[in-house]
Amino acid sequence: MEKFSNLKYERVDIEEFKSAISDLLRRFNRVEAKEEQLKILSEIENKRIHVLTMSDLCYVRFTLNTKDEFYVAEMDYVDEIMPEIDSIVTDIYKNILKSPYRDYLEIEKGSLYFKKINFFLKTFSEEVKELLKKENKLVSEYGKLLASAAIDYKGEVRNLSQMKPFMVDEDRLVREEASELYYGFMSDNMDEFDRNFDELVKLRAEIADKLGFSSFVELGYYRMERMDYDAEMVSQYRKQVLAEIVPVASKLRKRQQERLGLEKLEYYDINYMFKSGNPKPQGEPDWIVEQGRKMYEELSEDTKTFYNIMTEYELMDLVAKPGKSGGGYCTFLTEFEMPFVFSNFNGTEADITVLTHEMGHAFQSYKSSHISEIELKDPTMESAEIHSMSMEFFTYPWMENFFKADVDKFKFMHISDGVLFIPYGVLVDHFQHYVYENPTDSPEMRRKMWRKLEKMYLPEIEYSGNQYLQNGGFWQKQAHIYEVPFYYIDYTLAQICAYQFYIKDMENHEQAWKDYVNLCSLGGTKPFLELLEVANLKSPFEKGTVGEIMEFVDKQLNLIDDRSF
Ligand code: ZN
Repeated sequence: MEKFSNLKYERVDIEEFKSAISDLLRRFNRVEAKEEQLKILSEIENKRIHVLTMSDLCYVRFTLNTKDEFYVAEMDYVDEIMPEIDSIVTDIYKNILKSPYRDYLEIEKGSLYFKKINFFLKTFSEEVKELLKKENKLVSEYGKLLASAAIDYKGEVRNLSQMKPFMVDEDRLVREEASELYYGFMSDNMDEFDRNFDELVKLRAEIADKLGFSSFVELGYYRMERMDYDAEMVSQYRKQVLAEIVPVASKLRKRQQERLGLEKLEYYDINYMFKSGNPKPQGEPDWIVEQGRKMYEELSEDTKTFYNIMTEYELMDLVAKPGKSGGGYCTFLTEFEMPFVFSNFNGTEADITVLTHEMGHAFQSYKSSHISEIELKDPTMESAEIHSMSMEFFTYPWMENFFKADVDKFKFMHISDGVLFIPYGVLVDHFQHYVYENPTDSPEMRRKMWRKLEKMYLPEIEYSGNQYLQNGGFWQKQAHIYEVPFYYIDYTLAQICAYQFYIKDMENHEQAWKDYVNLCSLGGTKPFLELLEVANLKSPFEKGTVGEIMEFVDKQLNLIDDRSF
């Protein structure tokens, strides 16, 4: 195995790839023995893995230094060839489905493999190719519109994310001022946000219609590869959230208001949690990484080996540096069988959650690297977030090392975060179902509906004085709604499962850890509900699950005295 800095990148020659695949497919269709076909299939897989790994490696190197001209140009090239690759993959899939040895292949590859191929093909046809391009264009137009914000504040011109620290400032006037400016930008561009979204909704309805779906809702579920639950089950789940989580969230808001000593929580107070500031890690980045090593060494033999590989082979780049792109992620360099974790440490509690959350993702890809099919390595989004969010809880016993005296504040905040987030996540989901079930509704009707649902799921949010928000504009800054329809409920489903691991870990650590590692090793070889079954987790859709978990979570929150935070 090579260190990350020694990994060799080479540009994918798309023409060469294309002709290599058509040669292989010709042989694939001509073989006379089923075993021979399986062998060719794995040759095809290896070629695809190489292409995938090169584009991932390019992405990582580019995000590590967005000023590196070589990788900037390579990234442009990768973006350019992506649609071409998709169409090559479509071709491969069609040939697999036509195979005379399909029964044999299905035994070898598993039925889920075929199901996933079918799902992919259902979401695409030559007839909608141009419409899909148009969809991408509208999505990037939205991104550009968001990024065009140039707000003059405190002597500097700032974009939307640069306004965020001021929106949680300890000075209430600063919070209010910054929030007014932030939503002022949104409000000034409301017509554009409306037009863009309206075009997207109608376009998606047209794509769904051309592909033979009854509405975009159905296609949206196909795109997310949801195989074992449907819109009706999700709707029942939202009802559980409304009945069981919204009241607990309301209690948390009340406690927040009392802690802050405010007569009323205004919308610009919502994200300001503690008078004394958020909990902070008690050391520098190198110290945090060392604490991380100690933590993963003590957690299990598995995580010990894993963390040592991650550090020895330079598979983590955690500290913010000039030129590095923002945010954090985990990716897997399939050909090298290595995960890579990227983040921007900034001295906040989020640094520690990167070390647990992103490392949870990385641990899963490490544990499921034995799976050779690209289609089966990673599970769907709601399952993928269980690995990461649960690791956040499994590492609780070590949080004292990072936060010292702030440890209770950290735990209180971390447990609360999920409770406060789920109702919002479910609101976003409810709204999207309404939008795509009624694609001809006007932007005004959509805003009205958003405000109505907002009052239901987030009853304590007040927008006094801000007309844009009062009129239901809040969702326009939520990129998921524009970019990946129906992706959002996933985080809430995963959170419900992560809370279950939290409970199980307290009751019986050994069993809980065993179930977790087992879940990670399965990767994406099973759909969501089957994965839950193997991991001994209850389905969030099942009546009673949400209430049972909330009872425990509420109790934990009540054990912590937050009045002095
Ligand atoms: Zn994640």
